[in-house]
Amino acid sequence: MARKVCSFCGRSEKDVNFLITGLNGFICDQCAQQAYQIVMEAGFGPEGHGKRKSQFDVALSDVPKPMEIKEYLDQYIIGQDEAKKYLSVAVYNHYKRLQQPQDDNGVEIEKSNIIMVGSTGTGKTLLARTIAKLLKVPFTIVDATVFTEAGYVGEDVESILSRLLQVADYDVAAAERGIVFIDEIDKIARKADNPSITRDVSGEGVQQGLLKLLEGTMVNVPPKGGRKHPDQDYIHVDTRNILFICGGAFDGIERKIAQRMNTHVVGFNSVQNVRHLDKGNLMKYILPQDLKSFGLIPEIIGRLPVLTYLNPLDRAALRRILVEPKNSIIKQYEKLFEMDGIKLHFNDDTLEFIVDKGVEYKLGARGLRSIVEAIVMDAMFEVPSKKVDEFTVTLDYAKKQLEKSNLRN
Ligand code: ADP
Repeated sequence: MARKVCSFCGRSEKDVNFLITGLNGFICDQCAQQAYQIVMEAGFGPEGHGKRKSQFDVALSDVPKPMEIKEYLDQYIIGQDEAKKYLSVAVYNHYKRLQQPQDDNGVEIEKSNIIMVGSTGTGKTLLARTIAKLLKVPFTIVDATVFTEAGYVGEDVESILSRLLQVADYDVAAAERGIVFIDEIDKIARKADNPSITRDVSGEGVQQGLLKLLEGTMVNVPPKGGRKHPDQDYIHVDTRNILFICGGAFDGIERKIAQRMNTHVVGFNSVQNVRHLDKGNLMKYILPQDLKSFGLIPEIIGRLPVLTYLNPLDRAALRRILVEPKNSIIKQYEKLFEMDGIKLHFNDDTLEFIVDKGVEYKLGARGLRSIVEAIVMDAMFEVPSKKVDEFTVTLDYAKKQLEKSNLRN
């Protein structure tokens, strides 16, 4: 058998206190000590977060400025300028906050979590998803209704953080600076104050659990999101620096806004203001107290200091959504046909017809996709087997196809 020597310094067994046996070699007590020191210096000791270069380490100078973030969003999302602006600033400030030295003359920048209010299908999730593509922090989207189903909040909070850890490639320090988008936050509103038909999901208890998460708490996450096991090592994740963006439709909140505005409208000045009210879009007058009337507890509202809204999509917006975004529905179908070497073309009046149907079916932007799908379904089935190099969707064809489909029922 070969002589036992330390694979690092080459000293033999008799020259050292002892040798630790590895798979393919040995390490002596002194080299092990040195190795430990190196690990500590690199910041990977029990206390350290490590100085490992992570894909999420970015300097503020590399972060796009708020205006650049908005320009990026503009390529994918039509309108919603207000929400885009708020989001861009909040995300940029989030980076600034992360770059702030520990002791900055006592000025500690606080986290500005965001809440976006707007009817379903107006682009809240799209905004969050799009901004995620641009970001260099771990990002995940969760649905607030998961808080409701399990009833016990702890478990769900863990699963959210476990997902964030996954995205961060188990780089805990990166996950602790990530962004979580919580969708359908309105679904956990208290019912007593809530006129909408959403289920009451034990409202307040659930909100208290969420509150902890928003405020910043230490959560023990089972590694790899697996089931809890008594002697498993947990990953400790501190949520203090995680940015939360919440979104919700808050169905019926316009009534709360109108009520508030009516009660406050007294005196000469306010009479003038009322005249300028945009009655078709009361959402833009939303204030934190409306969220309270809707059934969110004040503590939660206090933890979501940035409140912004999304506009309902009118006919003109739907028309633009169909063709303009970089990833528009029409462009996607054109791409599908192009892969078969076929040029797909929609006549102008066909596009108008699609928008009309979208408005008629009241499905918003989401409905546009099913309408286009129904119209080109047969073509997608037949055309690839035909020897054609272009296909035009005329108004007549579109009408006939839609008639045939079961979308109308
Ligand atoms: P929600 O507000 O309910 O989260 P989504 O963001 O999921 O709505 O929107 C649904 C779909 O409708 C999106 O995937 C997108 O295709 C389209 N859409 C909605 N709003 C817009 C918008 N402002 N600009 C472009 N597309 C939009």
